[in-house]
Amino acid sequence: MDREAAFEEHFGTRPEGAWAAPGRVNLIGEHTDYNGGLALPIALPQRTYAMAARRADDRLRVMSMQTREVVEIDAAEIAPGRPAGWASYVAGVLWAVRAAGHRVGGLDLLIDGRVPLGAGLSSSAAIECATGAALSGLYGLGLLDTEAGRRQLATICRRAENEIALAPTGGMDQSASLLAQSEHALLLDCRDGSTRQVPFEIERDGLVLLVIDTRAHHALVDGQYGARRASCERAAAALGLPSLREVDPARLDAVLADLVGLLAGDGPEPPEVVVRRVRHVVTEIERVQECAAAMTARDWEGVGRLFAASHASLRDDFEVSCLELDLACSVAQDQGALGARMTGGGFGGSAIALVPEAVAGPVQAAVTEAFAAAGLTAPSIFAAHAAPGAG
Ligand code: ADP
Ligand code: MG
Repeated sequence: MDREAAFEEHFGTRPEGAWAAPGRVNLIGEHTDYNGGLALPIALPQRTYAMAARRADDRLRVMSMQTREVVEIDAAEIAPGRPAGWASYVAGVLWAVRAAGHRVGGLDLLIDGRVPLGAGLSSSAAIECATGAALSGLYGLGLLDTEAGRRQLATICRRAENEIALAPTGGMDQSASLLAQSEHALLLDCRDGSTRQVPFEIERDGLVLLVIDTRAHHALVDGQYGARRASCERAAAALGLPSLREVDPARLDAVLADLVGLLAGDGPEPPEVVVRRVRHVVTEIERVQECAAAMTARDWEGVGRLFAASHASLRDDFEVSCLELDLACSVAQDQGALGARMTGGGFGGSAIALVPEAVAGPVQAAVTEAFAAAGLTAPSIFAAHAAPGAG
């Protein structure tokens, strides 16, 4: 059934419009956002669609074509963890739009998500930003019309995820979904929220960006994410800095040596472990800067080397990779990728590989074969390009 027919069947009324927001894949800059650092995502061609109509009351009715479930709630009843489950991402946006002082009433909303769910490609930001775009369009808020409006909507959607869906994520995903432009990556500075468009036109240089969804979701993910964040905050506090962004990369070795002494004795993990976490964050922020420069110069071998270094740092120093991600990256590299790395928070999700067009097929086949040989669930692999943000 198409979306419009499903909308009419479930809500007994016609939609007033349709909006869409993309998922994203981060090219480099992992676990840097909550450290005030840099990230470099692109918007994916896969989008989440929202069809919606205003209501005369303050009620939200939302249906997802993926869960086949309808959830209803009064706007006034939306609260942390309420509603529970997937609808919190939608309800959270209604709550946060109102909390930002916009006058909006209720709505009927149908969600059709074409971003793979839970693959580290940010279906959560896509559903939030599609909802935000629909609210803005229905109630004439004009938030998609200007860059300032899009920034404001990104903040609103992040609040929805943090405060209502209760996922303590940084703001990269929502910024990418709303601010990205086609054929560009978004250089995002999480210290001040500023952004810069960096050209990412790989096709004209005969390259393909493969996204490898490993289908692995290790249960560790929530607790470990919180633990990594806590280690970073502990290190910044011990160094007397507002965030690890303030560590001077030129003085990294000296700072890490000092840190061992400053941390001695307290905290949940040995100082040597915290030192490795900090080394990842500080070197990763530098790699993002170098990668943006290499992309601008169309130095794709340089970009590939930075991808590989980022993966090694996430695997060895930050310890957020896993068997599936390591396998995908090493096989891709062996088959001629310029570089491959895990992307997203880790412990499963997706990897990316920058590959010459001629080896895209062989890389795909070899990764699939290696997963089968290791007895793993077959990965889902697709070629991505830098697509436009929400509309
Ligand atoms: P990711 O953002 O990497 O896909 P998350 O765990 O952050 O992973 O978000 C996935 C969650 O978002 C899903 O478990 C579901 O609750 C919600 N979600 C995203 N898209 C949809 C959709 N189309 N329909 C219902 N729920 C969705
Ligand atoms: Mg998410």
